[in-house]
Amino acid sequence: MIPEDSHLKERARKAAKIIAKPADFKVCEGCDSIVAARVATCPNCHGYRFDEKPASVVEQARLLASRAQTSVIADDLF
Ligand SMILES: [Zn+2]
Repeated sequence: MIPEDSHLKERARKAAKIIAKPADFKVCEGCDSIVAARVATCPNCHGYRFDEKPASVVEQARLLASRAQTSVIADDLF
């Protein structure tokens, strides 16, 4: 069983990775997930519209790290 605390730390760790290299990621406009820049469609909602601005990626990563929500940081892809 994973305690909620380490779950949040894991999210924060992923977010830090994304914030360090925002050009490698983009934000899905359909579900606000952060996905790898090379994917053509969102693995979460199958959307194909993305916000690729590094500033948007960083902002979204901070948001995802700070609260639990249904959007995913999709790194099953790495
Ligand atoms: Zn999506």
